[in-house]
Amino acid sequence: MKHLIARIFFLSVLGLLALWSFFAPVSGWYFVFILLLWFVTNIIGSSFIQYNYHVKAYCSNPSEKDQKIALTFDDGPNENTLQILEILKTHNAKATFFCIGKNIEKHPDILRKIAQDGHEIGNHSYSHSDFFDFYRKDRVTKELKETDNLIEEITGKKPTFFRPPYGVTNPSIRRALAITKHKVIGWNIRSMDGISKNTQAIFNRIVRQLSPGSVVLLHDTRLETNVVLEQLLLSLAEKNYEVVPTAQLLNLKAYEN
Ligand SMILES: [Zn+2]
Repeated sequence: MKHLIARIFFLSVLGLLALWSFFAPVSGWYFVFILLLWFVTNIIGSSFIQYNYHVKAYCSNPSEKDQKIALTFDDGPNENTLQILEILKTHNAKATFFCIGKNIEKHPDILRKIAQDGHEIGNHSYSHSDFFDFYRKDRVTKELKETDNLIEEITGKKPTFFRPPYGVTNPSIRRALAITKHKVIGWNIRSMDGISKNTQAIFNRIVRQLSPGSVVLLHDTRLETNVVLEQLLLSLAEKNYEVVPTAQLLNLKAYEN
């Protein structure tokens, strides 16, 4: 993992500086600068899932030759998920839903419907708390197991896919994943549908980046996403793109059993 390479690199530089300071005066600012650089490297590595800094993340299939992509929906299930399911059904598209445990407890029937409609379900933590990235390994592990159990109770299948909240990874998540054995699923096209309300801009952002093997990040909790999805599926059909489940696109298994 790249965090290990970074650790070895920065510790070696600090070691060499310390050694050098025995022979010649070295300003303490050099040490501060190196530590700061290491800190910034960690922040960037943690923030961008596709850098595979802390954990390996599957973000696309660059070797896919056919016009195939995967659509992923985060943060459900909620009432709006039903609209998304309706649109997907109309266009005969299969997607992947990364669900939050506490939302599953509120809407077990909607989770069941996602599975019954033939879509994939992955784990997106239990709380999706703003503080998730500050949780220790045990708490992350507990959240992943709780959400797995809810999904298994309702659908009969235990997910192997995990998408970290906000796409942020860190040492606690890495250690938790060593126990739970989930595969981290990222994306290579971020629609920004969680931030922007301009449906045309969201649509354009996706279409502009489209290529075979892409994984698109969307949210089934947003009304704007319904409009974008309808337009996107029409456009994909026009371009002869097929929407397939993430497991198929990435040649992985979405469930343990
Ligand atoms: Zn999320």
